[in-house]
Amino acid sequence: MPQNTRAWEITGVLGEDLFIQTDTHSGEKRKVRSSECDCGQPVMIEYNTSHRQDGKRTFYPEDDKENTLVFRCKQCLSPVHESVPYAGFEVTRKMDTC
Ligand SMILES: [Zn+2]
Repeated sequence: MPQNTRAWEITGVLGEDLFIQTDTHSGEKRKVRSSECDCGQPVMIEYNTSHRQDGKRTFYPEDDKENTLVFRCKQCLSPVHESVPYAGFEVTRKMDTC
């Protein structure tokens, strides 16, 4: 089954730009933040993934495929961890919080 058949819907709001989304097909949940690059390019941040050591995954809202990870903004080519608020690398690792 192709992985891009998911239909994410916002099912919870944790903050101004922080949401819980649920896939209407599988019931799977994810935590995402809506942010944008300095240049205005919208960038989404998903938490608790295995893509980066700090669990974050950056992707474009219009290109939401599970295995994509954006390193540089497609519009201004800045590294997203510097140009996108909240996309920076966290110093603490996700396992250290317990
Ligand atoms: Zn940009």
